[in-house]
Amino acid sequence: MRAVALDYERRRLVERSLREPPLPAGGEVLFRVEQVGICATDRELAAFRFGYPPEGETSLVLGHEALGRVVAAGAGVRDLRPGDLVTAMIRRACPERCPACARGRRDLCLSGRYRERGIFGAHGYFTELAADAAEDLAAIPPGIAEVGVLAEPLSVVEKAIERACEIRGDRPASALVIGAGPIGMLAALALMARGAAVSLHSLEPRTHPRPGLASAAGARYLESLDATRDRFDLVVEAAGSAEAAFQAIRRLRPLGVCAILGGSSGSGSVSFTELLAGNQAVFGSVNASPAAFAAAVEDLARFDRSILDRMIRRAGFGEYRKSILESPDEVFKIVHVIH
Ligand SMILES: [Zn+2]
Ligand SMILES: [Zn+2]
Repeated sequence: MRAVALDYERRRLVERSLREPPLPAGGEVLFRVEQVGICATDRELAAFRFGYPPEGETSLVLGHEALGRVVAAGAGVRDLRPGDLVTAMIRRACPERCPACARGRRDLCLSGRYRERGIFGAHGYFTELAADAAEDLAAIPPGIAEVGVLAEPLSVVEKAIERACEIRGDRPASALVIGAGPIGMLAALALMARGAAVSLHSLEPRTHPRPGLASAAGARYLESLDATRDRFDLVVEAAGSAEAAFQAIRRLRPLGVCAILGGSSGSGSVSFTELLAGNQAVFGSVNASPAAFAAAVEDLARFDRSILDRMIRRAGFGEYRKSILESPDEVFKIVHVIH
């Protein structure tokens, strides 16, 4: 079967053939991959900035945002049957089973020796058939089939929002999201669904499609933080810019929380005095828990479907060079339709 992979010897994006997984046994599930979403992680992988192939292999099949349809399930699988839609939780436990992995929270792995399908040491889903343990899959109800491929990126947002609410002890009434890419848009939608007034700050000019969609969804768009003196209960950094995050942290209210989802470039400073006087918190968040996937599935059913539809551009299997090596920034999410 066809697969889109990174060749680590030639350092190139290639199409390769992959052996079909065997029929599932025990708690395993075999599924046909119907859709694969592409994100900045795939583009960074293709630039060989991080990621590595499975042990003993020289290539890594890409694709970590998958929507699949179950073909067969092992005798030990109770909740999934052929025809069901699924998405995969991509992280796999570390070999030593650290305390976090042992209690089912691989997203909080302490050893750092976890694997992630399509990213670190395990093949992804940009292929035709894939197999996983049933416990690594989340069911996608038929009603959200068209947007179910967004469950994985949304789960990352859900985990961060849940943690922020835990730290605060209540839901944020106001939020500032930095970055108008797919993660920023999904964060804005998830926060508005919880009743927060959301401002979205990004560098795109107002004429760009992204600010247009943010406004249509009900968020206030800010080209510059200087455009307002407002302060916020929650800041979600989803732009890959530490600089913007440092600027936004100064806009936190008392008990304000800042979640860092992408910021790595740039530098700045934080006032410890304000942090302690305001009982504020800054935390980083990556990957997602099974509960966060469940929250993502629930949210996809209640988000405005027309906004989600406008976020997605569908592409064929063969258009992977364009979607991975070029990054058309007017589009939110490119989804390859495989079957
Ligand atoms: Zn992704
Ligand atoms: Zn672990």
